[in-house]
Amino acid sequence: MKWPSSRRDFLAVSMLAPAAAPLPQAAEKKPAASSKKAAEPRYRTLGRTGLKVTTVGFGCMTTSDASVIERAADMGINYFDTARGYQGGNNERMVGAALKSRRKNIVLSSKSHGGSREEALKDLDTSLRELGTDFVDIWYLHAKSKAEQVTDELQAAQAEAKKQGKIRFAGVSTHAGQPELIPALAKLKTIDVVLSATNFSLAPEVEGALETAANSGMGVVAMKVMAGGFRRVKPGDPIVERLKRGGAMQAALKWAIRKPFVHTSIPGIMDLDQLDENYAAMTSPLSEADEKVLKAQLEFITPLYCRTCLSCTGACAKGLPVPELLRFLMYAEGYGEFALGRERYLELAPESVAGRCADCGECTVKCPNGVHVATRVARAQELFA
Ligand code: SF4
Ligand code: SF4
Repeated sequence: MKWPSSRRDFLAVSMLAPAAAPLPQAAEKKPAASSKKAAEPRYRTLGRTGLKVTTVGFGCMTTSDASVIERAADMGINYFDTARGYQGGNNERMVGAALKSRRKNIVLSSKSHGGSREEALKDLDTSLRELGTDFVDIWYLHAKSKAEQVTDELQAAQAEAKKQGKIRFAGVSTHAGQPELIPALAKLKTIDVVLSATNFSLAPEVEGALETAANSGMGVVAMKVMAGGFRRVKPGDPIVERLKRGGAMQAALKWAIRKPFVHTSIPGIMDLDQLDENYAAMTSPLSEADEKVLKAQLEFITPLYCRTCLSCTGACAKGLPVPELLRFLMYAEGYGEFALGRERYLELAPESVAGRCADCGECTVKCPNGVHVATRVARAQELFA
């Protein structure tokens, strides 16, 4: 075995999902990193915003190399999503610098966790400063899972920011792809865009909810299209390839962007290889081989991937916030972002994560989606605690 040459590679190897039978191979050939684009990008209209966006956008959360963002914009990808919390608080600054000369040609979004008007608007001003721009095209109230979290006060803050020309459109993001939240947002009419988990593993109700939102005129942006990004380990693969590659990732992206209610998507892109692979997903069909790959991938990720349905909230005998812990574990194991996972873990109140699975007789959390909760939470504790 070739040993990793860096701490990052070491963590990648130690955190990759367990070995399993290899996936069926997708028929498509991997494009070379420097390949010229094979076809013009595909566009859709982002609901009532009227913005024309490429079906594959760029989620900048896991990108630390500005040249990948610049190259994506030069290839024609025109939607870029960021938030200040990513990459140790530097993501907006890096994205802003990379896109500064291209600002007129791109659609840019950022987010706020602010819980009050003052917090949110202060956050927005900081975002604009970091990004080096006068406005963002879409400003999301971030990580909402219930309609009551999208308060009148926060909607008023978005309206105020619109009036001031600091944002063009108001959005809400949800990690959970909540079937109850999304139609409620559609009814509000103040929210122009929803950014939601959308992938081949989600329940049909979530797809139905997103379809309802799109039919009501909302723009729909797909995130978590890779359903956790978990790759299989094939002994002997070069380490970096194991972290980045996988026919399942391109197939998953094709699956998402071929849904008529998805207007654009924000897969994470770490390097030029991934950029080429994601770009190609825009223009190549979802093949039978892709569908087989996704079927096998679904089986593989079922015990690993928390769909953030939140139905287990409060079910842990020791009061652990299970969906959050499993999301942070996904950042580390699926996205290869150990630092981000640990950073988020350390933000939780220490008393809320004090319990240990090892001290539990039987796990009280029964996941209807087949996640092996006790094993996964114990893994999160082993990595982060
Ligand atoms: S562990 Fe299972 S029940 Fe809990 S949020 Fe995740 S998918 Fe839902
Ligand atoms: S095994 Fe872990 S997740 Fe399950 S109830 Fe006990 S502490 Fe909670």
